Amino acid sequence: MNLSYWEYKTWLSNIDYTIVGSGIVGLNTALQLKKRFPQAKVLVLEKGILPQGASTKNAGFACFGSISEILSDLKKHTEEEVLQLVQNRWEGIQFLRANLGDKTIDYQNLGGHEVFLKEHRELYQECRSQLPRVNNLLKEVFKTEAFKAQDNIFGFESIQQQYITSTVEGQIDTGKMMESLVAKVQQSGVTILNAITVESFAENASHVTVKTNCFEFNTKNLLLATNGFAAELIAENVKPSRAQVLITKPIPDLKIKGTFHLDEGYYYFRNIDDRILLGGGRNLDFKGEETAAFGLTPLIQNSLEEILATVILPNTSFEIERRWSGIMGTGTHKRPIVKPLSDRVFCGVRMGGMGIAIGSLVGKNLADLV
Ligand SMILES: Cc1cc2nc3c(=O)[nH]c(=O)nc-3n(C[C@H](O)[C@H](O)[C@H](O)COP(=O)(O)OP(=O)(O)OC[C@H]3O[C@@H](n4cnc5c(N)ncnc54)[C@H](O)[C@@H]3O)c2cc1C
Repeated sequence: MNLSYWEYKTWLSNIDYTIVGSGIVGLNTALQLKKRFPQAKVLVLEKGILPQGASTKNAGFACFGSISEILSDLKKHTEEEVLQLVQNRWEGIQFLRANLGDKTIDYQNLGGHEVFLKEHRELYQECRSQLPRVNNLLKEVFKTEAFKAQDNIFGFESIQQQYITSTVEGQIDTGKMMESLVAKVQQSGVTILNAITVESFAENASHVTVKTNCFEFNTKNLLLATNGFAAELIAENVKPSRAQVLITKPIPDLKIKGTFHLDEGYYYFRNIDDRILLGGGRNLDFKGEETAAFGLTPLIQNSLEEILATVILPNTSFEIERRWSGIMGTGTHKRPIVKPLSDRVFCGVRMGGMGIAIGSLVGKNLADLV
């Protein structure tokens, strides 16, 4: 496309910072850059018409790790490392809430419950027996004994008698969070251009030349917040991981409230607007779901429907209203990659399944690298 003199001069000249990706990380990076450098010209490029990765597709759990996840982490990491992971998530959620406000993002501390299937008796017993250890370890972060056993008050079927509940876990309205974040970034004077895909970039001593699907321009600094799509532009250890979701139509008199982790976290569900949102099933086809292409498969969608019918809503009729997928960025390690790639290029990627919790702080930390 041939840009006019005016288009080029107004939108694409003298750019101090260009951020690729308008997910939770990219938008927080933009906010922090504007806070540090109010006079700077900051541009965000986003390939979707809306943010189009994970930040507008997720389940909206404000979570810090279920009990089985923490125990699994304790087998691979030291207690100090696990404490640090949980601490980062906790601080990240406080940062998100303070930044946008609980009312704006509809934050509710309804509790999070790990639900164990009948056939997972051994894991259930291990989690029960390790409750005091985990509570003791994490008291430093939560200032309370966060985990406790709770009866099956929501009438799930084919599960162990009790859940293990995290009293500190909450939920947000993902759409409201992202809408308010976009508005806040625009109000701060940052330009967001949608439907622009960054195809490549080349660095020289004074600037970075960025080539997109529509135009080419120069920027003084480039910050990549492309998460699951990172491998398309940089050689870091981040793999795309697709996650599929469905949501029911409103269910009259729905009693289920809270966020739920099932089958060691391979499935997750919550209440929202009198509906059940359910996602997961990647473990049925890890290889097939290691893709940056959006899409749904009968294998996973059927398993989600079966879990709804047999475990979550066994005695309630329901209809599915909508199905979708999102792309996460995962890797062999749970920590995100936030680092300079050169003097002028920086990245903040690999949020895993915890981007709500850590994304805001990762964005801030990415901006603080420059
Ligand atoms: C189904 C699902 C459920 C989840 N549930 C939860 C949950 O309950 N709690 C939780 O904490 N986390 C959850 N997550 C994870 C969380 O959503 C992510 O960790 C987080 O949103 C990542 O944010 P991000 O900004 O790093 O990436 P993204 O939101 O993916 O943003 C990256 C952006 O970069 C853009 N982009 C990529 N390449 C280019 C390019 N070349 N040019 C221009 N733009 C580009 C993409 O379009 C995208 O908008 C879930 C994820 C999914 C998919």
